[in-house]
This record gives sequence, C-alpha cells and structure tokens, in this order.
Amino acid sequence: MSIVFIVSAPSGSGKSTLVSELFKMVPGLDFSISYTTRAPRGSEQNGKEYFFVPEAEFKAMIEADEFLEYARVFGNDGKYYGTARRFQREAEKQGHDLVLDIDVQGAAQIKKRLPDAVSIFILPPDRDKLEWRLRNRGVDSEEEIRRRLDTARREIEQYSRYDYILVNNVLEQSADELKAVVLAERIIKRGTKPTREEEQLVEIAQGLRLEQARERVQPILASFGTVPIRT
Ligand code: ADP
Ligand code: 5GP
Repeated sequence: MSIVFIVSAPSGSGKSTLVSELFKMVPGLDFSISYTTRAPRGSEQNGKEYFFVPEAEFKAMIEADEFLEYARVFGNDGKYYGTARRFQREAEKQGHDLVLDIDVQGAAQIKKRLPDAVSIFILPPDRDKLEWRLRNRGVDSEEEIRRRLDTARREIEQYSRYDYILVNNVLEQSADELKAVVLAERIIKRGTKPTREEEQLVEIAQGLRLEQARERVQPILASFGTVPIRT
C-alpha cells in the first residue's frame, strides 16, 4: 500500500516551494495533479500545476465518482478543486507514495476515506512574514492578498486536525523536516528495525508531531489574532 501524504498550508506559507524541494530529495514520490475550474495564473500550464477544466466537465467527473475528494476552495467565485482517484491507483501500481497538495476541507475528507493518510500542516512564522511573502511573490492583487490573509487566519485555527506541524521559517531546515517526516513514515510502515541514521530521522519526525507542536504554534496563532487554544 502506498502512503498518502496530505500537505496543507495557508497560501503564501511556502508549501509549493517545500514540496518541490521534497521531490528533488526523495525518490519514489508521485504528485497528485488536481483538477480545478479556476483559470490558469501566470505561467501555469494545463496538466502541470493543475488540469484546468470547465465546470460542466468537473461536475461530470463528480457524477462519475472520479474524485477521492473535491471542494469549493476560498469560496473563490465558487471555483472547484478535486483530487482524482486515478493518481492513487497509479502510485499504487508503481509502488510509489503519493503527495496531495490540498486545502483543509479536502484534507478532512481524505482522512475520513483513508484514515492511514499522513497529514502535514505548514505554517508561516507569523502573520507579518506571510504578508511579506505574499507581496514579494508578486502574483496577487492587494484585494487578493487581504483575502488570503483572512483565509489564512481561519485555516490556521484548524492546525490541530493534522498529524505533523511544520513552521516554514528557514527554508532549508523546513525542507529537511518535510523530508524527515516522509522518510520516517516509510521506516515506521516498513516495520523492520531502523538503522542508527534512520532512528535519527524518526526522532526528528516525532518532534514535529502535533502533540509536540502546541507551544510552537501559540505565538503564530496570536500573531493572526486567533483565540489561543489551551493546551
Ligand atoms: P504557497 O505554495 O504556500 O502559496 P510559495 O511556495 O509560492 O507558497 O511561497 C510563497 C513565497 O514565499 C514565494 O515567493 C517563496 O519563494 C517564498 N518562500 C517560501 N519559503 C520561504 C522561506 N522559508 N523563507 C522566505 N521566503 C520563502
Ligand atoms: P490555488 O488556487 O492558490 O492554486 O489553490 C488554492 C487552494 O486550493 C490551496 O489551498 C490548495 O491546496 C487547494 N487545492 C488545490 N488542489 C486541491 C484539491 O484537489 N482539493 C482540495 N480540496 N483543495 C485543493
């Protein structure tokens, strides 16, 4: 059985950057290319970042039960995003693990259907840094940046539904942490005695689990003005 890794993050946290670093470092991973009814942005190409489809086609896919999950994201003019089942079948056939880059709603649906899926939430170091990254990326309008920051606050409140919490402060370190989570899950699933080096990876991953994250997350939540959660 393949491992399904769900990666979610508020937009601008650095998820795409981290996932692309992960793919450079770790072999045997497939990326699930989602379907969406939104229009391509900038240099996005059909079949690379997403499959861009008309709403009628998306709805036909829902009818044909082709999605593992789908959601209307951001309330984004009612734009749909969905994960096709065929990516899971393909990964399985290849003996690969699968990475899903999906939002909080999609992650909850996947966890219900695939309880063994491993979920990872990526947080920005604080609200100011997230705002800076969104501006610096230079693809969103002022209105879009405001909306994303607002959505980020709501998404961040959901962090405790995830298995692992990563704070993307220093890129290289966060990429190594993401890699440690993926490799540690493979080691645990394999079930045979880990080597010394593997034990270290498992230990790093353990430190990133939700139970270990509450204290790290408090100041981030506070910077977004969310109600602190009692631990
Ligand atoms: P997301 O996929 O979460 O929307 P991106 O990967 O597009 O975010 O990253 C948003 C911006 O922040 C990009 O310009 C990216 O280069 C930058 N970025 C990503 N990670 C870091 C980091 N650790 N430190 C500083 N900038 C970062
Ligand atoms: P964007 O339009 O900025 O590429 O993505 C917006 C949001 O949609 C992100 O949070 C991204 O993770 C999420 N997303 C992308 N693909 C899917 C998908 O297949 N299903 C769900 N539920 N969310 C998705």
